[in-house]
Amino acid sequence: MEESALKWIRNLKMSERTRTDPAVESQVLLKSARRCCLCFHVNQDFDVKLGQIAHLDQDPSNGSEPNLAYLCMEHHSLYDSRTSQHKNFTFREVVAARDALYAYVQQVKGGTQPKTSPASLQSGGVNFGIGTNVNVYGDVVGGHQAAGVQTQKLRERGEELYGMIDKWLNGLADNYLNLSFVMQGKLTYNQYMDIMIKKGEAPYDFSRIELLIDLDFPALRIDYDNVIEARTALNRIATAHKHAYSDGDIDGTKFLQPYVAAQKSIEALGSTLKKRLVQIIQK
Ligand SMILES: [Zn+2]
Repeated sequence: MEESALKWIRNLKMSERTRTDPAVESQVLLKSARRCCLCFHVNQDFDVKLGQIAHLDQDPSNGSEPNLAYLCMEHHSLYDSRTSQHKNFTFREVVAARDALYAYVQQVKGGTQPKTSPASLQSGGVNFGIGTNVNVYGDVVGGHQAAGVQTQKLRERGEELYGMIDKWLNGLADNYLNLSFVMQGKLTYNQYMDIMIKKGEAPYDFSRIELLIDLDFPALRIDYDNVIEARTALNRIATAHKHAYSDGDIDGTKFLQPYVAAQKSIEALGSTLKKRLVQIIQK
Protein backbone atom coordinates (compact mmCIF):
# COMPACT_ATOMS: atom_id res chain seq x y z
CA MET A 1 0.00 0.00 0.00
CA GLU A 2 1.16 3.51 -0.71
CA GLU A 3 2.62 5.54 2.11
CA SER A 4 0.00 8.29 1.72
CA ALA A 5 -2.85 5.78 1.91
CA LEU A 6 -1.38 4.26 5.05
CA LYS A 7 -1.09 7.68 6.57
CA TRP A 8 -4.67 8.43 5.68
CA ILE A 9 -5.89 5.24 7.38
CA ARG A 10 -3.75 5.94 10.45
CA ASN A 11 -5.21 9.42 10.68
CA LEU A 12 -8.72 8.07 10.31
CA LYS A 13 -8.11 5.50 13.06
CA MET A 14 -6.63 8.21 15.24
CA SER A 15 -9.63 10.46 14.77
CA GLU A 16 -11.99 7.60 15.61
CA ARG A 17 -10.14 6.80 18.78
CA THR A 18 -9.83 10.39 19.90
CA ARG A 19 -13.26 11.52 18.84
CA THR A 20 -14.65 14.06 21.30
CA ASP A 21 -18.04 13.42 22.85
CA PRO A 22 -20.60 15.25 20.65
CA ALA A 23 -22.41 16.54 23.75
CA VAL A 24 -19.17 18.16 24.95
CA GLU A 25 -18.55 19.59 21.50
CA SER A 26 -21.96 21.16 21.35
CA GLN A 27 -21.34 22.75 24.76
CA VAL A 28 -18.19 24.36 23.38
CA LEU A 29 -20.06 25.59 20.30
CA LEU A 30 -22.94 26.95 22.35
CA LYS A 31 -20.82 28.65 24.99
CA SER A 32 -18.54 30.26 22.42
CA ALA A 33 -21.43 31.03 20.03
CA ARG A 34 -18.80 30.22 17.37
CA ARG A 35 -16.75 33.25 18.34
CA CYS A 36 -12.98 32.75 18.46
CA CYS A 37 -11.72 33.58 21.96
CA LEU A 38 -8.34 34.74 20.62
CA CYS A 39 -9.92 37.08 18.06
CA PHE A 40 -12.05 38.35 20.93
CA HIS A 41 -9.11 38.67 23.32
CA VAL A 42 -6.63 40.29 20.94
CA ASN A 43 -8.86 42.32 18.61
CA GLN A 44 -12.16 42.63 20.50
CA ASP A 45 -13.50 40.85 17.42
CA PHE A 46 -16.82 39.25 18.31
CA ASP A 47 -17.76 38.12 14.80
CA VAL A 48 -18.87 34.56 14.08
CA LYS A 49 -15.89 32.66 12.72
CA LEU A 50 -15.42 29.57 10.66
CA GLY A 51 -13.33 27.50 13.01
CA GLN A 52 -12.57 24.28 14.84
CA ILE A 53 -12.50 22.98 18.36
CA ALA A 54 -8.91 23.02 19.58
CA HIS A 55 -7.35 20.75 22.21
CA LEU A 56 -5.52 23.25 24.38
CA ASP A 57 -2.99 20.80 25.81
CA GLN A 58 -2.38 19.61 22.23
CA ASP A 59 -3.40 16.09 23.24
CA PRO A 60 -6.21 15.02 20.91
CA SER A 61 -7.22 12.21 23.26
CA ASN A 62 -8.05 14.71 26.01
CA GLY A 63 -11.58 15.67 25.02
CA SER A 64 -12.67 17.04 28.38
CA GLU A 65 -14.43 20.37 28.14
CA PRO A 66 -11.86 22.42 30.10
CA ASN A 67 -9.30 21.34 27.50
CA LEU A 68 -11.35 22.58 24.54
CA ALA A 69 -11.86 25.95 22.90
CA TYR A 70 -13.42 27.06 19.66
CA LEU A 71 -10.77 28.84 17.57
CA CYS A 72 -10.85 30.38 14.11
CA MET A 73 -8.72 28.62 11.46
CA GLU A 74 -5.83 31.09 11.72
CA HIS A 75 -5.65 31.03 15.50
CA HIS A 76 -6.04 27.26 15.60
CA SER A 77 -3.12 26.66 13.29
CA LEU A 78 -1.06 29.34 15.05
CA TYR A 79 -1.77 27.76 18.43
CA ASP A 80 -0.96 24.27 17.18
CA SER A 81 2.28 25.32 15.52
CA ARG A 82 5.24 24.67 17.76
CA THR A 83 7.79 26.47 15.63
CA SER A 84 7.22 29.94 17.06
CA GLN A 85 6.46 28.77 20.58
CA HIS A 86 8.07 31.80 22.21
CA LYS A 87 5.68 34.14 20.40
CA ASN A 88 2.73 31.84 20.59
CA PHE A 89 -0.26 31.96 22.88
CA THR A 90 0.20 30.01 26.09
CA PHE A 91 -2.25 27.46 27.44
CA ARG A 92 -3.20 29.77 30.33
CA GLU A 93 -3.69 32.71 28.03
CA VAL A 94 -6.14 30.80 25.84
CA VAL A 95 -8.01 29.44 28.86
CA ALA A 96 -8.38 32.98 30.26
CA ALA A 97 -9.48 34.32 26.87
CA ARG A 98 -11.97 31.47 26.46
CA ASP A 99 -13.49 31.99 29.92
CA ALA A 100 -13.78 35.73 29.28
CA LEU A 101 -15.52 35.02 25.98
CA TYR A 102 -17.95 32.58 27.62
CA ALA A 103 -18.81 35.17 30.27
CA TYR A 104 -19.37 37.78 27.58
CA VAL A 105 -21.62 35.50 25.53
CA GLN A 106 -23.66 34.82 28.68
CA GLN A 107 -23.93 38.51 29.38
CA VAL A 108 -25.09 39.26 25.85
CA LYS A 109 -27.61 36.48 26.05
CA GLY A 110 -29.11 37.90 29.20
CA GLY A 111 -27.49 35.63 31.75
CA THR A 112 -28.82 32.38 30.35
CA GLN A 113 -26.72 29.47 31.56
CA PRO A 114 -26.74 26.70 28.97
CA LYS A 115 -27.70 23.36 30.47
CA THR A 116 -24.96 20.80 30.68
CA SER A 117 -26.62 17.43 30.34
CA PRO A 118 -26.85 15.93 26.85
CA ALA A 119 -30.53 15.18 27.51
CA SER A 120 -31.38 18.82 28.05
CA LEU A 121 -29.43 19.73 24.93
CA GLN A 122 -31.64 17.44 22.90
CA SER A 123 -34.81 19.03 24.19
CA GLY A 124 -33.76 22.64 24.26
CA GLY A 125 -30.23 23.95 24.09
CA VAL A 126 -29.57 27.64 23.74
CA ASN A 127 -31.15 28.74 20.52
CA PHE A 128 -29.08 30.87 18.21
CA GLY A 129 -31.85 31.35 15.74
CA ILE A 130 -30.68 28.44 13.63
CA GLY A 131 -33.03 25.48 13.81
CA THR A 132 -30.27 22.94 13.54
CA ASN A 133 -26.64 23.22 14.55
CA VAL A 134 -24.03 21.39 12.56
CA ASN A 135 -20.78 21.05 14.44
CA VAL A 136 -17.34 21.36 12.94
CA TYR A 137 -17.26 17.64 12.15
CA GLY A 138 -20.53 17.82 10.27
CA ASP A 139 -22.63 16.15 12.95
CA VAL A 140 -26.05 17.49 13.69
CA VAL A 141 -26.31 18.55 17.31
CA GLY A 142 -29.21 19.91 19.32
CA GLY A 143 -31.51 19.87 16.31
CA HIS A 144 -34.66 20.89 18.12
CA GLN A 145 -36.10 24.34 18.52
CA ALA A 146 -35.61 25.70 22.00
CA ALA A 147 -38.44 24.91 24.36
CA GLY A 148 -39.75 26.34 27.61
CA VAL A 149 -37.46 28.81 29.32
CA GLN A 150 -35.13 29.17 26.33
CA THR A 151 -38.00 29.96 23.99
CA GLN A 152 -39.27 32.51 26.47
CA LYS A 153 -35.82 34.17 26.61
CA LEU A 154 -35.58 34.21 22.85
CA ARG A 155 -39.01 35.78 22.59
CA GLU A 156 -38.07 38.45 25.14
CA ARG A 157 -34.92 39.31 23.21
CA GLY A 158 -36.96 39.36 20.00
CA GLU A 159 -39.37 41.82 21.56
CA GLU A 160 -36.49 43.95 22.82
CA LEU A 161 -34.99 43.93 19.33
CA TYR A 162 -38.34 44.83 17.79
CA GLY A 163 -38.71 47.78 20.18
CA MET A 164 -35.24 49.10 19.34
CA ILE A 165 -35.74 48.74 15.59
CA ASP A 166 -39.15 50.39 15.80
CA LYS A 167 -37.80 53.36 17.78
CA TRP A 168 -34.92 53.75 15.36
CA LEU A 169 -37.17 53.68 12.27
CA ASN A 170 -39.58 56.16 13.86
CA GLY A 171 -36.67 58.45 14.68
CA LEU A 172 -35.50 58.25 11.06
CA ALA A 173 -39.01 59.05 9.81
CA ASP A 174 -39.26 62.01 12.16
CA ASN A 175 -35.93 63.41 11.06
CA TYR A 176 -36.88 62.83 7.43
CA LEU A 177 -40.16 64.71 7.79
CA ASN A 178 -38.57 67.78 9.35
CA LEU A 179 -35.70 67.90 6.87
CA SER A 180 -38.14 67.56 3.97
CA PHE A 181 -39.86 70.72 5.33
CA VAL A 182 -36.52 72.51 4.95
CA MET A 183 -36.23 71.27 1.37
CA GLN A 184 -39.71 72.62 0.69
CA GLY A 185 -38.88 75.98 2.26
CA LYS A 186 -41.34 75.53 5.16
CA LEU A 187 -38.56 75.56 7.77
CA THR A 188 -35.10 77.09 7.84
CA TYR A 189 -32.18 74.80 8.47
CA ASN A 190 -31.71 76.37 11.92
CA GLN A 191 -35.35 75.77 12.84
CA TYR A 192 -34.98 72.15 11.79
CA MET A 193 -31.82 71.82 13.92
CA ASP A 194 -33.63 73.35 16.93
CA ILE A 195 -36.49 70.88 16.56
CA MET A 196 -34.16 67.89 16.36
CA ILE A 197 -32.08 69.09 19.32
CA LYS A 198 -35.24 69.57 21.39
CA LYS A 199 -36.25 65.98 20.65
CA GLY A 200 -32.93 64.90 22.05
CA GLU A 201 -30.58 62.07 21.13
CA ALA A 202 -32.62 58.93 20.70
CA PRO A 203 -31.07 56.02 22.56
CA TYR A 204 -30.30 53.79 19.61
CA ASP A 205 -27.95 51.13 20.80
CA PHE A 206 -26.70 49.82 17.49
CA SER A 207 -24.14 47.50 19.06
CA ARG A 208 -26.96 45.88 21.05
CA ILE A 209 -29.13 45.63 17.93
CA GLU A 210 -26.27 44.02 16.01
CA LEU A 211 -25.38 41.61 18.81
CA LEU A 212 -28.97 40.42 19.10
CA ILE A 213 -29.15 39.90 15.35
CA ASP A 214 -25.83 38.04 15.23
CA LEU A 215 -26.48 35.85 18.24
CA ASP A 216 -30.18 35.17 18.19
CA PHE A 217 -31.60 36.22 14.84
CA PRO A 218 -28.90 35.70 12.19
CA ALA A 219 -31.65 35.13 9.60
CA LEU A 220 -32.39 38.89 9.87
CA ARG A 221 -28.90 39.99 8.90
CA ILE A 222 -29.67 40.57 5.22
CA ASP A 223 -32.89 42.49 5.97
CA TYR A 224 -31.08 44.62 8.53
CA ASP A 225 -28.19 45.35 6.15
CA ASN A 226 -30.72 46.39 3.51
CA VAL A 227 -32.16 49.01 5.87
CA ILE A 228 -28.67 50.26 6.77
CA GLU A 229 -27.83 50.58 3.09
CA ALA A 230 -31.03 52.52 2.40
CA ARG A 231 -30.29 54.79 5.36
CA THR A 232 -26.81 55.45 3.96
CA ALA A 233 -28.40 56.48 0.65
CA LEU A 234 -30.79 58.80 2.50
CA ASN A 235 -27.94 60.33 4.51
CA ARG A 236 -25.98 60.97 1.34
CA ILE A 237 -28.83 63.09 -0.04
CA ALA A 238 -29.23 64.89 3.29
CA THR A 239 -25.51 65.69 3.33
CA ALA A 240 -25.59 67.03 -0.26
CA HIS A 241 -28.55 69.22 0.69
CA LYS A 242 -26.78 70.49 3.79
CA HIS A 243 -23.68 71.45 1.77
CA ALA A 244 -25.77 73.24 -0.86
CA TYR A 245 -27.73 75.03 1.87
CA SER A 246 -24.63 76.20 3.72
CA ASP A 247 -23.23 77.40 0.37
CA GLY A 248 -26.25 79.72 0.12
CA ASP A 249 -28.38 77.56 -2.20
CA ILE A 250 -31.43 77.32 0.05
CA ASP A 251 -33.84 76.05 -2.61
CA GLY A 252 -33.88 72.39 -1.63
CA THR A 253 -36.66 71.27 -3.98
CA LYS A 254 -34.25 69.46 -6.29
CA PHE A 255 -33.32 67.14 -3.40
CA LEU A 256 -36.90 66.46 -2.45
CA GLN A 257 -37.79 63.78 -5.00
CA PRO A 258 -34.75 61.50 -4.39
CA TYR A 259 -35.06 62.16 -0.66
CA VAL A 260 -38.71 61.05 -0.58
CA ALA A 261 -37.82 57.97 -2.66
CA ALA A 262 -34.99 57.06 -0.27
CA GLN A 263 -37.29 57.38 2.75
CA LYS A 264 -39.95 55.22 1.05
CA SER A 265 -37.30 52.58 0.49
CA ILE A 266 -36.32 52.67 4.19
CA GLU A 267 -39.95 52.34 5.20
CA ALA A 268 -40.52 49.33 2.93
CA LEU A 269 -37.30 47.57 3.96
CA GLY A 270 -37.88 48.45 7.60
CA SER A 271 -41.33 46.93 7.56
CA THR A 272 -39.94 43.78 5.90
CA LEU A 273 -37.35 43.57 8.68
CA LYS A 274 -39.99 43.90 11.40
CA LYS A 275 -42.32 41.39 9.72
CA ARG A 276 -39.55 38.79 9.47
CA LEU A 277 -38.68 39.31 13.12
CA VAL A 278 -42.30 38.79 14.16
CA GLN A 279 -42.45 35.61 12.04
CA ILE A 280 -39.37 34.24 13.78
CA ILE A 281 -40.65 35.09 17.27
CA GLN A 282 -44.02 33.50 16.58
CA LYS A 283 -42.54 30.22 15.32
ZN1 LIG B 1 -9.29 33.88 15.90
